[in-house]
Amino acid sequence: MIKQTHTKNQTERPRVEKTDSAWREQLTAAQYEVLRRKGTERAFTGKYFDEKRKGMYRCAGCGTELFSSETKFDSGTGWPSFTEPADRANVELHDDFSYGMHRIEVTCSACGGHLGHLFPDGPGRTGDRYCINSCSLDLDEH
Ligand SMILES: [Zn+2]
Repeated sequence: MIKQTHTKNQTERPRVEKTDSAWREQLTAAQYEVLRRKGTERAFTGKYFDEKRKGMYRCAGCGTELFSSETKFDSGTGWPSFTEPADRANVELHDDFSYGMHRIEVTCSACGGHLGHLFPDGPGRTGDRYCINSCSLDLDEH
């Protein structure tokens, strides 16, 4: 049975709407590929997988607060990993059946940008591991 994840999404939130060419202009090629084309950066190549500084990871597309460094942990996967979002309303979860498997895709609820995937093997209370591309994030240090 497939876990129903859509029901928790906040559909009434305001969304950042931009044309494809506006996104291309704003984002780097790597950010565009991940956020707008649902690409995945290669493991151990992103700028944040080994990041230890404290702060808030914001959406690289629209600045929405996504993950706190407090919930970041070293998963050994080569991608930044978090046990939970800063605010559950700021991310949306979607069933993703690409590549012949069922995964849960994580997107920014404000701009719809692709962030990464959610896996059930996290070390925290919830067991969640948000596996996020560095490209999708901008660390706001504090
Ligand atoms: Zn966003």
